[in-house]
Amino acid sequence: MYEIHFEIAAAGFFCLLFLANLLKKQLQSRRTAAFQILLCVMMAASFLVAGSDLCMFYYGTCEGTTLIKAASLYAEVLCLVSFHCYILSAAYRLSLDSPLLLSECILFVFMTVIILSSPWTKWCFYLDGNGMFHQQTPFLVICLFLMEHLVMDIFIVWVHYKEHLLQRRVFYSLLILMFFCAVAAEMTQKVKVEGVTVFILFVLFAFYLSLQSPDFYVDTSTGAYNRDGFFEVLRERIAYCRKTSCLLVRVRNYHSMNQIYGEETLQEVQRQIYDILKKNSANGIVYHVGASTFALILKDENLLKGVYEQLSVKIPTEWLVEDEVVRHEYSFYQISYPKDCQDYEELVQRIHYARSDHESRHKAGSLTLLHWGAVKESEAKKKVAHLLEEAVMDNSIEIQFQPIYSIEKDKITSLEVLARLKDENKNYIDPEYFIHVAEENHMIIPLGEQIFRKACIFASRNRIFDYGIEDININLSPGQCRYEKLTEVLAGIAAEHGIPMAKMHLEITESEFTDADAVSRTLQRLKETGAKVALDDFGTGYSTLSNILELPVDFVKIDKSLVWSFAEGKNQFLNDLMPMIKAEGKKIIAEGIETQEHIDIIKRLQGDFLQGYHYARPLPEKNFMRFLKEFNAQC
Ligand code: C2E
Ligand code: CA
Ligand code: CA
Repeated sequence: MYEIHFEIAAAGFFCLLFLANLLKKQLQSRRTAAFQILLCVMMAASFLVAGSDLCMFYYGTCEGTTLIKAASLYAEVLCLVSFHCYILSAAYRLSLDSPLLLSECILFVFMTVIILSSPWTKWCFYLDGNGMFHQQTPFLVICLFLMEHLVMDIFIVWVHYKEHLLQRRVFYSLLILMFFCAVAAEMTQKVKVEGVTVFILFVLFAFYLSLQSPDFYVDTSTGAYNRDGFFEVLRERIAYCRKTSCLLVRVRNYHSMNQIYGEETLQEVQRQIYDILKKNSANGIVYHVGASTFALILKDENLLKGVYEQLSVKIPTEWLVEDEVVRHEYSFYQISYPKDCQDYEELVQRIHYARSDHESRHKAGSLTLLHWGAVKESEAKKKVAHLLEEAVMDNSIEIQFQPIYSIEKDKITSLEVLARLKDENKNYIDPEYFIHVAEENHMIIPLGEQIFRKACIFASRNRIFDYGIEDININLSPGQCRYEKLTEVLAGIAAEHGIPMAKMHLEITESEFTDADAVSRTLQRLKETGAKVALDDFGTGYSTLSNILELPVDFVKIDKSLVWSFAEGKNQFLNDLMPMIKAEGKKIIAEGIETQEHIDIIKRLQGDFLQGYHYARPLPEKNFMRFLKEFNAQC
């Protein structure tokens, strides 16, 4: 009789689970759907088993009840099959050649064959000559069943609970307890095959209660699915090769707004953003994947474009929360699988990139494709930024010196200071690149100071002015030029090392002159200290000549590309340009002098200084001094 009670209770329990599952907030994943189907099958099977037991109880063993009993046993097999299918679908994270999964499958096939072949082998049940049903429960088979489920459940937990250690411990304890109860029950012959069902049931229940719990996937502040849910669904879609398009919506100025208005006000705004996203999501699901970022998973790119167009008009840039106006700007990013990325890892990497794209160069409100180049670039930049940080902290930036030859004096009278940074493999990083990264990461001010200081130390230590050097050329980058205190700082450092500012020639590129007032003020102040200014990279910019001629510079450095193309006969600019610059009273330095022909050209055009590999490449301190002494001694 207790067996009947048990089966009825089990059927009722499955019903309850099924209803609860229908009512709760679900992640839209294949696995959740599979869980639903599994519950249905379990429910049907337990009803059938309960029904067959009831029939046997009331009518005894006769032909009809025998049939029902046999059907219920096959239903249990169906149960087992669905349970395994569910586990397999849940195990998408592991490759099929995982030893655990393989042992699972072998055991599963073995158990199914035992049950299905039972009418002939008589291991589990059989029908006698009179058509009467007989149930066998050999101890070995039961133990195999138990083992099977034990392995299976450990497997589920292992796959799913990786991140949730506490639940895992509770779960394993429960499992072991259940195992011993079931074995004990089996040994005392109180419970038959149903012992196994009881066992599955508890395991499933525990599994359901914790793992399928919405708490894991829902963000409490907005009620949207959270980041875990988002990545879970993405992982699954990609595991099953389903076309997936992601639209990310990021509040660009979230952190600065957060500092002004505080968390609570912004949360209110986010709830409202979430509502707008939900209403315009074209049946996609909205996830809140980080404080400032929402994501939408859609079926294809066309749908995504449509949603983007709607959202870009419907999400307001101004929000009124408790009489405060919060202004937001948004960035939109798109990425599709399998079109733009190959696997889950790649997709996640790009999504992380979008979430931390605080330097975004694209316009607010625009839709950006998360292409591979952007991610790679950001990774490379992070590495270089880290190296720069170290160099700034350890005062370890290297500098080299390239000689500048004076045509008038026929000797080396100047040098350009060039910064050098090595990567972890001791290879030099392109200076133009790391200077740009230093600018972006606000490290250019300390870095520039360090270079300037090292140049001063170099000059005084080697007494370079005793060997024919008259001035030192040092590069300034845009970030430094905008720094109001630059002049004070540089003049202070020069004085500290006994170098007059008049010996300092600061090289600035054209674009900086067109930059705001701050730059012109800085230049003005620099000139007041006696420093000279050189216009660097002349010939690469776009300004008209008249603009350039008006700039308050003492030197113009003709870019190497212009020298080379002139030498190759590709342009004639220098013919007119150089006399005009000279007429304004500015001196000309030509870069990229690599051959005698280059020297002849610049001399013919009345240039003043020559810099290039023909004389020397940028050299480390000792080599430069050796070169300088030898070269000037010959003159
Ligand atoms: P730049 O200021 O135009 O520096 C001249 C560049 O031309 C140097 O490259 C130099 O090695 C190269 N060069 C000189 N003569 C020749 C030649 O005959 N042939 C060839 N092929 N190249 C020649 P480098 O050292 O790689 O520096 C590149 C850029 O990085 C510099 O361009 C400058 O914009 C920036 N940079 C380097 N050091 C510093 C620094 O200390 N501060 C700042 N702000 N920028 C720097
Ligand atoms: Ca330069
Ligand atoms: Ca240059």
